[in-house]
Amino acid sequence: MKRKNCSLCGGCIAVCPFNAITIGEETVTVDKALCRSCNLCKKICPDMSIVGELNIISMYAARSRLKELTSVAQNGGVVSTIVFSLLKSKTVDIFLTSARDFTQPKPLVLTEAEKVVRSAGSRYFYVPILAPIRELKTRDNIGIVGLPCHIRAATNLEKVMGLNTIKIGLFCFKNFYFSSFIKTLAKYNISLNDVTKTEIVGKSMKIHTLSKTLSIKLTEFKSSEKCLNCLNFIPSEADIAVGNVGSLNNFSSVLVLTKRGAEIFEEAREYLLVSDNIDFSKITILQRIKERKRK
Ligand SMILES: Cc1cc2nc3c(=O)[nH]c(=O)nc-3n(C[C@H](O)[C@H](O)[C@H](O)COP(=O)(O)OP(=O)(O)OC[C@H]3O[C@@H](n4cnc5c(N)ncnc54)[C@H](O)[C@@H]3O)c2cc1C
Ligand code: SF4
Ligand code: SF4
Ligand code: SF4
Repeated sequence: MKRKNCSLCGGCIAVCPFNAITIGEETVTVDKALCRSCNLCKKICPDMSIVGELNIISMYAARSRLKELTSVAQNGGVVSTIVFSLLKSKTVDIFLTSARDFTQPKPLVLTEAEKVVRSAGSRYFYVPILAPIRELKTRDNIGIVGLPCHIRAATNLEKVMGLNTIKIGLFCFKNFYFSSFIKTLAKYNISLNDVTKTEIVGKSMKIHTLSKTLSIKLTEFKSSEKCLNCLNFIPSEADIAVGNVGSLNNFSSVLVLTKRGAEIFEEAREYLLVSDNIDFSKITILQRIKERKRK
């Protein structure tokens, strides 16, 4: 049995007590023979057609001071720097995020601060970053980096599984199937192994390789129904939300959304250059466009 309306966050795989769910190319599949109809998977599946309530404590534009992140981070490297800081101080034991791998959607479980470069940068395809929760021995001090749907599913998992997580969310307008990423890049003769960076600029995805940069229209990639009906640009349930809109190139825009988020940001400050040069109206515009477009 296949699930429709899925952004492959991996949350249901983490919660299923009977290991009945497997990840597929465009959705998850439930093995009827193993399923005992407990409904936990439905309970934690993030409903992205509901807009989350936003509570902003403070906001900044920031960039990393860590030299090793300069060439690999997506924008200011703030997300990776926060992850680095929390693993280094052992405030967080385990960070769940996505691997810096353009050849497959690969969740990554990070435990060492020095290995944070292995996750830097953005992959514009679905990565089931929550699935590894299933294998974790601990329920405390878990960090999560993810899109608004990952963050909402993680919030649901906290209630159902009793997890204690720190959540760093990314702004997100839309994401795409890895299958369509492979297909489209093949059409333009780009080998996945050659990709060094991907970025969304306007209505196109820029693909950087060692030898060239190509701009491909977003209409050439395919999204899930979940994205098409998603009203959340800002990950409102996160402790800290980060994106690129609203600040200068090579900086990341940072919204601190909880008291714990404020403590985390203070802790990471020693590794960051922080300014208040952030234009929040640009962030709000994208949240509003997303809400309006999907009505
Ligand atoms: C699919 C997607 C859509 C986005 N859309 C927007 C947008 O419309 N507007 C905007 O302002 N910003 C958007 N962002 C956020 C932006 O691309 C940067 O992630 C953000 O600005 C942080 O930059 P940084 O240099 O601080 O992050 P870095 O230090 O480079 O860290 C990036 C983090 O993102 C994680 N990550 C990368 N790809 C994925 C993925 N597919 N799923 C889950 N986690 C992932 C990495 O593992 C890493 O932890 C999007 C990101 C993604 C992945
Ligand atoms: S969106 Fe997440 S929780 Fe919902 S079916 Fe897909 S993988 Fe499972
Ligand atoms: S209903 Fe329960 S047993 Fe069945 S797939 Fe969902 S979580 Fe697993
Ligand atoms: S648009 Fe919404 S559902 Fe799609 S990846 Fe982004 S947060 Fe998830």
